[in-house]
This record gives sequence, structure tokens and C-alpha cells, in this order.
Amino acid sequence: MIVRAEHVMAELAGVELAERAHAQLVLDKAAQDPSSLARAPRPAAGKPAERPSAIAYVNHGRWVCDCPFPGCNSAQIVSPADARFFCAECFNAVVEGRYLRVHFPPKRKLERIERVLEERPLEETRNWLPQESLADLVAENEEHGL
Ligand SMILES: [Zn+2]
Repeated sequence: MIVRAEHVMAELAGVELAERAHAQLVLDKAAQDPSSLARAPRPAAGKPAERPSAIAYVNHGRWVCDCPFPGCNSAQIVSPADARFFCAECFNAVVEGRYLRVHFPPKRKLERIERVLEERPLEETRNWLPQESLADLVAENEEHGL
């Protein structure tokens, strides 16, 4: 798991992180308006929505997805261990609160991406975008003497 420095977060599935972020937003709002608790949106039960999908990438050593819904500029930490996405800001309202599937690279590629990035001592340099190849990452490491 790539989030070694953030050990606690590495142990949590992305959905759990989203739920915690969601819970914090709900609590922040409730501090201002106690009646809002009863109205807070929650993830809908059932299968994830087929579309849109959320695309995982690595940012500062964390697997992340940008919220794919138009007008929402949020991003959430996600986990290959639970490849679902629930936005803590727009609550996936467009798909009536259903989870979205998160698309990660295939398992073997994902593990190799993590291994190459973990060679980098600074977390802020551990980045990968879906259009980057493993060869790109290895070349970047070599350019920096890793
Ligand atoms: Zn959103």
C-alpha cells in the first residue's frame, strides 16, 4: 500500500475515509444548524451506479479520485481494497447517492506503480496519472538518481 507515511490512512478503505469526511461535514453543519442532522444525505444501498466512473491516480503518495460530476471540484482519497467512490461534498446526488465504481490500474501494474513511487523519499514526488507509463516513472526515478 502506497500510503506508508500515513500509516493509519493506509489501513482504511477509501469508502470509510469518504464516510469519515462526510461525517465531519455533517457534524460541522450540525454545529451551525442542529436540525440539519436529520436531513444529511447518506450513500444509497445497492449496487454502484454504472456511470460515471471515477478514475484513480496517485497524488502525494495517496490514491485519489476527482469527483466526476459536473460542477463538483471535490476529490476523495480512495483505496484499491474497496473500489467505491462517494463524494463528501455533492453526495453523488446526480446518481441518487449511489456509490460509483473506481477504476484502478490492473493489480500487477498497480503494485509496480506503488513500488516505483515508494523509492522516492519525498511524498510530494509520489505522483502518477493514468496516461503515464511505468517506464515514465522509472525514467523519472533514474533522472533523480533513484
Ligand atoms: Zn462531488
